[in-house]
Amino acid sequence: MRIAVFSTRPYDQRFFEAANEQYGHDITFLEARLDASTVSLASDHDAICGFVNDQIDANIVDLLDEQGVRMITLRSAGFNNVDLEAAAARHITVARVPAYSPYAVAEHTVALMLATQRRLGRAYNRVRDGNFALDGLLGFDLRNKRIGIVGTGQIGQIVARIMRGFGCSLRAYDPFPNDNVRDVGVRYVDLDTLFSDCDVITLHAPLTPDTHHMIDEAALAKMRPGVMIINTSRGALIDTPAVIEGLKSGHVGHLGLDVYEEEADLFFEDLSDRVIQDDVFSRLLTFPNVFITAHQAFFTEEALTNIAETTLGNAAMFERGERSGNELTPEEVRGDR
Ligand code: NAD
Repeated sequence: MRIAVFSTRPYDQRFFEAANEQYGHDITFLEARLDASTVSLASDHDAICGFVNDQIDANIVDLLDEQGVRMITLRSAGFNNVDLEAAAARHITVARVPAYSPYAVAEHTVALMLATQRRLGRAYNRVRDGNFALDGLLGFDLRNKRIGIVGTGQIGQIVARIMRGFGCSLRAYDPFPNDNVRDVGVRYVDLDTLFSDCDVITLHAPLTPDTHHMIDEAALAKMRPGVMIINTSRGALIDTPAVIEGLKSGHVGHLGLDVYEEEADLFFEDLSDRVIQDDVFSRLLTFPNVFITAHQAFFTEEALTNIAETTLGNAAMFERGERSGNELTPEEVRGDR
């Protein structure tokens, strides 16, 4: 199958080429992000492969359809960037990688918890600078702290298991509670109770109209002073200016982010030679109690291997007229648990 892979970095190519030895697809690796100005690069391809910041809206879907593209095979779990209704209307199959390594993301979530409150970025720079003073590095024990997990799907569940090992008390909110999660010792509560009762709130719900800006001024007002907020899900779960106000007042004690609402203009690029134009993001960088990584939670050997194998496997099954089970239809997504 001829597949145009957009937003490719050298590491994508490495893992895709290794996985393709078993599939033999004809792959074009493109550095360009998929948008109206680059969509013509998909001509002569049966499928395109997109990543999290490729905006595959109705207009792009129409243009893909006009070029004869029959499949969108996403190399991500999230699919909020694809207009599934438009794809279905054009009979374009959309598939994703539902689980490549939830461990990668869950473990990075815990890394952010530790990095923010133990001030690891500051400590690392200090020691390299010959400054061995501890002032300003005071943290707290996670043991006996109450962790609130928003969304107990694959990643949220693993976070629960890891945090149980830390000796934390676990609360969760999910519109679809799961008995396996209760068995780990998690108590499901409503969202307001989770906000008001937890020392750490970690977000693992997908981005949907319901979850968009779920952490806003009103939600923050319900939280404990000094609360730690961690987001490795999608940036738009958080109303960033509202959280900045919380950080300025001291109400938000720690913020750990792997995702940011406007990340498409920043993440996955080396901008170290340029002036960052996003004032909200720049403000976030000024806080000593904020730790940000650039959407790297998924970025492990194991995850990239699984992503490449599943993405290309989805395409191979589509080519054979079979279903992989990883397809996304508007009906399935609307009725999704
Ligand atoms: P999942 O589908 O297994 O779990 C999501 C859970 O959220 C489900 O249990 C669902 O019922 C729940 N949910 C839905 N609406 C909710 C709401 N309004 N409030 C609370 N919970 C709600 O997904 P997953 O594999 O655990 O991934 C979670 C998210 O993590 C993905 O949607 C994706 O956006 C993000 N993600 C980020 C990275 C990264 O590198 N940072 C990598 C993979 C996934």
